[in-house]
Amino acid sequence: MKCKVCDQLLNEYEAVKKDPVTKQYLDTCTYCLNMSRSKTISKMEEEESFREENSYTNDENCDTIS
Ligand SMILES: [Zn+2]
Repeated sequence: MKCKVCDQLLNEYEAVKKDPVTKQYLDTCTYCLNMSRSKTISKMEEEESFREENSYTNDENCDTIS
């Protein structure tokens, strides 16, 4: 069994790892799983910082007005 992303041989644990939602074999090594997970997290962080930036801009505008 090889990782479907990077084609590395999977170890016993990775080869039997299933998606908790779909119950399908992931066929993905731990490294690639972490990569896809961190991508999701960094996307959330981007949205978070975008929101913070907006609120900062609003604060600045308020300061200028007052
Ligand atoms: Zn991989």
